[in-house]
Amino acid sequence: MINLISDTVTQPCKSMLKAMMEAEVGDDVFGQDPTINALEAKLMDMFGMEAAVYCPSGTMTNQIAIRVHIGLLEELICDINSHVYQSETGGYAANSGAGVKLIHGTNGKITAEQVKMAINPDYDWVPKSKLVVLENTCNKGGGCYYTAEEIEPITALCKEEGLKLHLDGARIFNALIESGDKPQSMGRLFDSISVCLSKGLGAPVGSVLLGNKDFIKQARRCRKAMGGGMRQAGYLAAACIYALDHNIDRLKIDHDRAKLIAQKVAELPMVENIRPVHTNILIFDVKPPHTSASFIKKLEELGILAVPFGPQTVRFVTHLDFTEAMLDQVLTKLQMLQ
Ligand SMILES: *Cc1c(COP(=O)(O)O)cnc(C)c1O
Repeated sequence: MINLISDTVTQPCKSMLKAMMEAEVGDDVFGQDPTINALEAKLMDMFGMEAAVYCPSGTMTNQIAIRVHIGLLEELICDINSHVYQSETGGYAANSGAGVKLIHGTNGKITAEQVKMAINPDYDWVPKSKLVVLENTCNKGGGCYYTAEEIEPITALCKEEGLKLHLDGARIFNALIESGDKPQSMGRLFDSISVCLSKGLGAPVGSVLLGNKDFIKQARRCRKAMGGGMRQAGYLAAACIYALDHNIDRLKIDHDRAKLIAQKVAELPMVENIRPVHTNILIFDVKPPHTSASFIKKLEELGILAVPFGPQTVRFVTHLDFTEAMLDQVLTKLQMLQ
């Protein structure tokens, strides 16, 4: 089976496993795991941010960020398709008691003008606008990305209006590889950034939350309260360090392969509305009477796994374990659906 369900399906390679086996570890709840400390320091340095905390998942880093930035009777602003709204089980309400104001952006991207319109006036009877969350790349937006230049006006607006700005950077390196921006250019634009190591970079577990010292001090308390304080998790952090050292530049290959698949998918008569491919995600609709379920079943019979993204919508994600040979097979097999 060729698995294009997500870029989370990768297996650690032999040298990543070796790095894990050889990791020096300690108790991270006491701040004594040298490998976790090294991972946090590495990302702080890359993004030019003061402090960092390693967590089991990107959902947890996002939820902690929301919890620290926002509270009761307050509201966060994000695109309607964002992960924090759609795919974290309503955690913003459960963990932070916060409300959400949704923006209908373009392919998951929102503008400073849209944010400005979404900020509530200072009345007793409206939730207080406190936080803006951007996603880069935008998962449900088909892997669209923001450049640093596009984010600058949003940062300026948030500063002016006293709002915090968080980046869900589950696929931030996919964005940076395409835009050519440096990680520091993102670091200076946000109050907090969540970076996933278990997506395109191919580590088995973990995300890192970045921010200033005071923010991360509070984030560590939240992580403990959410049950995310791990002990000798340096074995996992070693895989993350390996991923940062070896798997960033090659993301471009995933992007090129996604574009080639999109070209082939575009030739299929049952397909419409293919979202432009910017990074490693390909989203398209199938025409009735086909459904995403029936199309995915056909693909499965051909040995390809994909995921439904709505009744008519299908998503493919390319990744580290999707090889050139698999690409050739996918292109040939898609031809058979003509
Ligand atoms: C995958 C993902 C996350 C975090 O997911 P976890 O599975 O909890 O690590 C956050 N945001 C986006 C956009 C994602 O795609």
